[in-house]
Amino acid sequence: HAKACGKNVYKLFDKKMNEHANERVTLLSDLRLALEREEFVLHYQPKVDLLTGNVTSVEALVRWMHPRLGMLAPDKFIRLSEESGLIADLTDWVLRTACTQAKKWQEQNLGSVRVAVNLSPYHFQRQDVKEAIFSVLDATGLEPALLEIEITESALMQNDEYTCELLRELRGLGMTISVDDFGTGYSSLSYLHRFPINTLKIDRTFILNMMKSSEDQAIVTAIIAMAKSLNMQIVAEGVETVDQLEKLKDQGCHEIQGFLVSRPVTAETVEQFFTPENHLHQHGNATAG
Ligand code: C2E
Ligand code: MG
Ligand code: MG
Ligand code: MG
Repeated sequence: HAKACGKNVYKLFDKKMNEHANERVTLLSDLRLALEREEFVLHYQPKVDLLTGNVTSVEALVRWMHPRLGMLAPDKFIRLSEESGLIADLTDWVLRTACTQAKKWQEQNLGSVRVAVNLSPYHFQRQDVKEAIFSVLDATGLEPALLEIEITESALMQNDEYTCELLRELRGLGMTISVDDFGTGYSSLSYLHRFPINTLKIDRTFILNMMKSSEDQAIVTAIIAMAKSLNMQIVAEGVETVDQLEKLKDQGCHEIQGFLVSRPVTAETVEQFFTPENHLHQHGNATAG
């Protein structure tokens, strides 16, 4: 009896595995089509300067409008696109769409707000990532100073010579380089300062746990102190409550991003967060006003 039972469990497991594999195959062929049909949209989430209240940049976050499954969040398809090599095409689309939007904001005199694009570590290691960025800037006419690149710690650590060189070049053109989800990887202080990084984004798990765990609070304090000593800008991600905001202000954090300010929203909706200060800084004229 036990044997028969085991067999049934196995059959069930087998069936589930099959279903899972089939779903994956289906989703992958859907993804190929989706890239052709451009079934994606970008939502934008503002980052806000705590001293001035101004939006410093807006992060582009991709969503897939799947014809059957509805709107899919990136955790449903980024992995798949990385593993299948489609990430390069997806990144091209994201870069093009985000830069076109930033250019439009500038032309509509809504202000020179930077747009931040997430680069996958898979894609970042490819030689054509530079080409992709340059060709998009060229095609859209966006100033490099209005483009921000978000990469994870793990992307920094792989192939560090190449990465350092590439970042130096991007930074040299005026782009902003941000390290995303900081604190979840393994970069050390001595390692970090070798890269031309403008900004550290403290991972939201620390912000979430900071109010109830003194260890997490200590980590946040240490990251802020370290970033400041290295002349880096510091952004707290995933800020949801006023308590978190107050704590981060006390700690001298520069910027916040999170549901407290806004969820990721459409381009049109995010415009309402742009302040007159953003408008003054048009066309790279940072000294206006
Ligand atoms: P991320 O770059 O760290 O983006 C932050 C994620 O946290 C976003 O999820 C955002 O919606 C969410 N978030 C922001 N504020 C809060 C908050 O206050 N509370 C909570 N609970 N969550 C918050 P999303 O849009 O689902 O994106 C997830 C991840 O997918 C991103 O993490 C990024 O790593 C990746 N991703 C998104 N768009 C792209 C893209 O165009 N290319 C690549 N390669 N990756 C992308
Ligand atoms: Mg990000
Ligand atoms: Mg992040
Ligand atoms: Mg994160």
